[in-house]
Amino acid sequence: MLATGLVAFGAGLMIAALVPAGRIVGELPGGTVRRHWQVLAVLIFFSLAAYVAYLVTAPGERTAVTELLVPAAFFLGGYFALLVTTVSLQTARDVRRMAALEAQSITDPLMGVYNRRHLDRRLEEEVDEARRYGLPLSALLLDLDHFKQVNDVHGHAVGDRVLHGLGELLLDAVRKSDIVTRYGGEEILVLAPHTPLEDACLLAERLRSAVESKPLVPPSNTKDGRSLRVTASIGVAALGPEVSDGPALLKAADEALYRAKDAGRNRVVPRRLVAAA
Ligand code: GH3
Ligand code: MG
Ligand code: MG
Repeated sequence: MLATGLVAFGAGLMIAALVPAGRIVGELPGGTVRRHWQVLAVLIFFSLAAYVAYLVTAPGERTAVTELLVPAAFFLGGYFALLVTTVSLQTARDVRRMAALEAQSITDPLMGVYNRRHLDRRLEEEVDEARRYGLPLSALLLDLDHFKQVNDVHGHAVGDRVLHGLGELLLDAVRKSDIVTRYGGEEILVLAPHTPLEDACLLAERLRSAVESKPLVPPSNTKDGRSLRVTASIGVAALGPEVSDGPALLKAADEALYRAKDAGRNRVVPRRLVAAA
């Protein structure tokens, strides 16, 4: 009775283990790990055959401790399978939640681009890598022109939608390796690894032209029902002999942006190289 009970209970635990295993397969994205879990679920399913075979073929009552070893192993096998699948499911969910929280903590909720906290970390990493391997690294600092007027004329909510649209436009336009960050209110910093100053200027010009030509909010969202166009000024700088660390790179891009504003806005200005003494 005890032996049969142990095996039957073990079989029940094995069946229960199929539930978390199935959930893991359902929740994982396609790939090797998901395939391995599918194999594991099938193995659990087929191992049930051993339980059934034992229950059907094993002779009657056993009481000697040694004779309970095999039923106990069946029971522990079921318990082990249930524990492993349950803990794995919980771990997968915890990891996913942590990844979502991590992504949230470095993302600007309005624009959907990275925030300053992320930039501070990445800037240091990218500058270190660029200097170690002698790779180019550029920064583009973009500021919307006369954005106060947008808020004043159309209201802050429309201003917010413009910023949201700007975030989407920029994320669409840059490479995956470029780091787009909300640097201030309506200032965006694009850090472009492996990109020399000339290429960064081409990218900046592409972004400027896209902002100018693409309505960032649909006309139905504006006060007068007319298409709302905004323009942007962009300062561009790259690491070099005179710009040797992250803060200097940001400062150089900021100076170039200031000059773009000063020169009439809606333009790209690269950092002017200081003539060698
Ligand atoms: P300039 O061409 O010199 O850049 O003129 P500007 O009016 O854009 O001036 P500035 O860049 O100094 O002003 C930024 C304005 O952006 C001020 C503020 O009203 C607006 N702003 C900043 N953050 C937000 C935001 O989150 N939402 C909205 N709607 N507006 C914002
Ligand atoms: Mg502005
Ligand atoms: Mg500004």
